[in-house]
Amino acid sequence: MKTWLITGCSSGFGQRLAIAAADRGDQVVATARDPRSIEDMAAAYGGRMIALPLDVTDAASAVSAVAGAEASFGGLDILVNNAGYGLYGAIEEGASDEYRPMFDVNVFGLIETAKAALPALRSRGGTIVNFSSGAGIAGGGGSGYYNAAKFAVEGVSEALADELQPFGIRVIIVEPGPFRTEFLGRSTTMAARQMPEYAASSGKRRRYRETNDGNQAGDPDKAVAVILQAVDAEEPPLHLPLGPVAYAIAERKLRAFKADMDAWRDIAIHTDFDRA
Ligand code: NAP
Repeated sequence: MKTWLITGCSSGFGQRLAIAAADRGDQVVATARDPRSIEDMAAAYGGRMIALPLDVTDAASAVSAVAGAEASFGGLDILVNNAGYGLYGAIEEGASDEYRPMFDVNVFGLIETAKAALPALRSRGGTIVNFSSGAGIAGGGGSGYYNAAKFAVEGVSEALADELQPFGIRVIIVEPGPFRTEFLGRSTTMAARQMPEYAASSGKRRRYRETNDGNQAGDPDKAVAVILQAVDAEEPPLHLPLGPVAYAIAERKLRAFKADMDAWRDIAIHTDFDRA
């Protein structure tokens, strides 16, 4: 039986992961900014799931939640950094009071939560699941700030995987395409400034939300089943694109990256000092 701590359990992937983990008999510390939103869910599992407050922008609340896992379940095996939200708008349109709070949640919150959990995880090995996105694989006009935040998640996660390998801690970066959670509804924000100059190009990203919210092809329950399989795997993937859209993004990115390298290798590689 494993013990999970999951951020952002009030809806979407976090809620479904908490339920799926508890359904199979694991112990779950389900967390939310407002734990009242998840108390009924936890109560349905008796003592196997507890609901605790965790706002990822408050590092002390992450430390308390980890202490709660140790007090109730004697430790922690799997941390899921799921909490996050999106921000759309061209880079020129975005304001710092819009993108900084988004980084506080998606990036710095993930870092602080991981740091809070690491002493417990290092003591017996385990798994960290960090939610990135297809947007963390390739950047695109109109979602640059969200791209930057999820790219940061990728970099931190790859470094953690390297640093934590000696402790027997594995890292899985989950990179979903569009899934039908509350993401495009309440978890996607828009830059308030809307410049007509971008209307025909990256401005289209604003309309993506209007037409796709509730119509995403991705089934979050199927995503959760894949995540459980990856967590259980002897050799889990570091990168886990989820769904056909994420796979297409990753394949396009890898092809374009390789094409740039192949086209410029003979010129760009000769940059070291000449050796005598
Ligand atoms: P969701 O249903 O809207 O859930 C987002 C969760 O994040 C909510 O539980 C929300 O809790 C929580 N949250 C927001 N700010 C928080 C904070 N400061 N502290 C703690 N929790 C906070 O959307 P979702 O799709 O499940 O999103 C989960 C993750 O998947 C996110 O990291 C997102 O970027 C990623 N993702 C989603 C998709 C998709 O298409 N669904 C695609 C790629 C990546 P509150 O109730 O407190 O607001």
